[in-house]
Amino acid sequence: MRISIDRDRCIGSGQCVMTAPGVFTQDDDALVALVPGHEDGSGDPRVRDVPMACPVQAIDVTED
Ligand code: SF4
Repeated sequence: MRISIDRDRCIGSGQCVMTAPGVFTQDDDALVALVPGHEDGSGDPRVRDVPMACPVQAIDVTED
């Protein structure tokens, strides 16, 4: 699984973190970041729901 995040689009709404908290986090400015060591999604199936959950299409998930 490959996860792309576009921090320029992110508005800090936090849906990604609520959907897959083990993979997504937010920095001090509330912008999306990937949890260190979990950049590959760590096999969490909820990660596939995150692109639809993000209101500004800031996240893309593709399968390897
Ligand atoms: S759901 Fe989208 S806008 Fe909200 S914090 Fe995550 S990446 Fe940013």
